[in-house]
Amino acid sequence: MAKKQKIYGRPEALSSSVMHYCAGCGHSLVHKLLAEVMDELHIRDKTIGVAPVGCAVFAYYYLKCDISEAPHGRTPAVATGLKRVRPGRIIFSYQGDGDLAAIGMCETIHTANRGENITVIFINNTVYGMTGGQMAPTTLVKQQTPTCPAGRETATMGGPIRVCELLNTLDRPFYIERTALDGIHGILKTKKALLTAFKAQMDEKGYSFVEILSPCPTYFRLSPEDSLKFVKNELSRHFPVRVFRKEGVVIND
Ligand code: SF4
Repeated sequence: MAKKQKIYGRPEALSSSVMHYCAGCGHSLVHKLLAEVMDELHIRDKTIGVAPVGCAVFAYYYLKCDISEAPHGRTPAVATGLKRVRPGRIIFSYQGDGDLAAIGMCETIHTANRGENITVIFINNTVYGMTGGQMAPTTLVKQQTPTCPAGRETATMGGPIRVCELLNTLDRPFYIERTALDGIHGILKTKKALLTAFKAQMDEKGYSFVEILSPCPTYFRLSPEDSLKFVKNELSRHFPVRVFRKEGVVIND
């Protein structure tokens, strides 16, 4: 009889807790990728994450590294403090679009502008997931939410903020990339981006930022499968998926 060989299993850095996320949510996928990255880089014991408010507030239940919690939007500020007192630790900030691009925009910009040697992971699903799917800074034009039931219109609400493009105007960031959870290829590219971002920090190169376009089936009001198509066909059109900054150098289109 052929000897059985295990080819796939739960990453060491991922707990066996049942996740509270909705079926098809991108957070659970990214958590698994993050756990794989920590395992592959052998950094779980020295990694400290900072969790946001929002759907990912319970990230500490799922990732088996040290994790701190931060008040609304203050995640990169807490991450900065941790890195400065523990420079040998690998610090990441994990945030949704409400936390990072609304109330936390100030911390987001200034942390990137200082070029702090931390890794920021930004989950962009275009809505405030935890509090009911309201309009976020990233909500698409014409996208309907409970606070813009007729669809977002730019005359009174402005347009969706493209955070990678905004941060790419600054001098100090080392690495900026936007990926999309829109299928197997996008998931693998996202893992590669996370690996690059963490390696940059390990090499003390400075600030790295990975934006991940992510499905929220509950507030897209779509099935998990159609949510992936929405990410691929709609979100990626408004938020181009690409590397914006590599080795500290701006990458043009
Ligand atoms: S509301 Fe959206 S972002 Fe929040 S857990 Fe559900 S699917 Fe995920």
